[in-house]
Amino acid sequence: MSFDDLGLSKKVLAAVEASGYTEPTPIQAQAIPHVMQHRDVLGIAQTGTGKTASFTLPMLSLLEKGRARARMPRTLILEPTRELAAQVEENLNKYSQNHKLTVALLIGGTSFEEQFKKLDRGADILIATPGRLLDCFDRGKILMTGVEVLVIDEADRMLDMGFIPDIEKICKMVPFTRQTLFFSATMPPEIERLANQFLQNPVQVTVARASSTSETITQYAVASEIEDWEKRALLRKLIDDAEELKNGIVFCNRKRDVANLWKSLDRHGYSAGALHGDMDQTSRTATLKAFKDNKISLLIASDVAARGLDIPDVSHVFNFDVPVNAEDYVHRIGRTGRAGRKGTAYMVVTPEEQKGFEAIEKLIDKEIDWLGDKVEWDERAGKKRRGKKGKSDRPEKSRSKAPKQANEAEEARPRNRRGKDIIPEIDHSDATHAFGGEEHVPAFLLNAG
Ligand code: AMP
Repeated sequence: MSFDDLGLSKKVLAAVEASGYTEPTPIQAQAIPHVMQHRDVLGIAQTGTGKTASFTLPMLSLLEKGRARARMPRTLILEPTRELAAQVEENLNKYSQNHKLTVALLIGGTSFEEQFKKLDRGADILIATPGRLLDCFDRGKILMTGVEVLVIDEADRMLDMGFIPDIEKICKMVPFTRQTLFFSATMPPEIERLANQFLQNPVQVTVARASSTSETITQYAVASEIEDWEKRALLRKLIDDAEELKNGIVFCNRKRDVANLWKSLDRHGYSAGALHGDMDQTSRTATLKAFKDNKISLLIASDVAARGLDIPDVSHVFNFDVPVNAEDYVHRIGRTGRAGRKGTAYMVVTPEEQKGFEAIEKLIDKEIDWLGDKVEWDERAGKKRRGKKGKSDRPEKSRSKAPKQANEAEEARPRNRRGKDIIPEIDHSDATHAFGGEEHVPAFLLNAG
């Protein structure tokens, strides 16, 4: 199958060639011909499959006919996060180099002015996050009656983020006769209901189960005690010992952990940046750019912030926690081992995370190899969580109230239980000396600042 067989316009084909793509990915091969025929499409595909081009390329071809009118975008792409929206814009800029089409972006955290000017002049494509779009609509800045194609991307993430009522509102505001392209990595019942409600006789295209992990990714689990300082020491050791580490993403379940871990790694001399939902848009964009440009080697991120980010060629993924949703594990480690390249994923597992760990192995239908001894599951974990107060339940809570110094002292506390058997050289007597001393950090990971 070649791009020439999909019915795309000449201008788009030229841009595809300039992008260096030689053949369509399965989602592109299966979806594009239907989009070109104005059919509704239900695409079950995750990021990394080339799904963005599967809707942007035919969209650009279709938009060559006709003109945009003031405040009436001709197509609307809904994305759950600002980063994803910005990424789709980046893709569109690349593919529309031979077109004179206007792309506007409505996302939180940036100034309205520039985008309003574009909308006022007439936007062919509007990329928006749901909240910001409704805000603009309520202020009378935008009319939805000219929307010919509506794209709902990452629908399951929209669900996780509580955007479904907004999506329903928006779907009712755009013309009934529009074409709808709907993408989701998974199809939980709420998403199925939404798809049934707003798609008309759609063509369904499924490219890979969200539960499958690429064969090119080597996956390891590593046992750790639950204390954060132990997990951080273990993570540094994993980073230091990782083979062929070019760059890596470290995933945390909580925003707070992202910030804490980043501070800790930075203090230990690693070249790292943080990405979480509480950061302002400017810092998020700057961090992402620094990572893409190899100015920083480690990106510490939460699931929401990192969802779908197009960061090619990440060599390693580190799961600082077992993700709460098993599917997030698939998304997380899918940041590496892309396009047939090799990747390595580590997951730090504590005795309390049995449920989450087993859910992942069940979902991916595979046993994850243990690096060192398997964790000894804490059978009383559930009881402890309910009945006992104090730091073994939620170590961070009590600590976050403690003065900074105590925090650091705790990190350097000379104690080791299980970590010792797995990775023998861990020495907690002086965390900086043992792991973070600059002489132990590989040169490319050193923090230039
Ligand atoms: P996506 O799933 O849309 O996030 O795309 C993942 C990555 O694949 C992006 O870096 C795209 O630029 C790239 N890509 C998309 N289509 C193709 C293709 N046909 N051949 C090679 N790379 C592609």
